[in-house]
Amino acid sequence: MPTYAHRCPVCGEFDQVRPMAESDLAARCPDCGSPSARVFGAPALAALDPGMRRALDVSGASADAPGVVGSVPGRHRRANPVTTDPRHARLPRP
Ligand SMILES: [Zn+2]
Repeated sequence: MPTYAHRCPVCGEFDQVRPMAESDLAARCPDCGSPSARVFGAPALAALDPGMRRALDVSGASADAPGVVGSVPGRHRRANPVTTDPRHARLPRP
């Protein structure tokens, strides 16, 4: 179950683990019992692995403005590999 942040008008903010179906309902403050509205904050992106964060940034950037490439990515080999075996020179050519 996800954790939702709420703000009690008397005690301040608190977190509560609730089912998603109850996410829109007002929560009761665990200290004073006052109805408390849900607080929306930024997701905890700082806790992400730096490599994962970079991958998400690149993915998000390429979704808006895809990069233009001159060749198929990941293909750095020659189409016809060069060989030093002299018998290969006698093979039929197209
Ligand atoms: Zn309270």
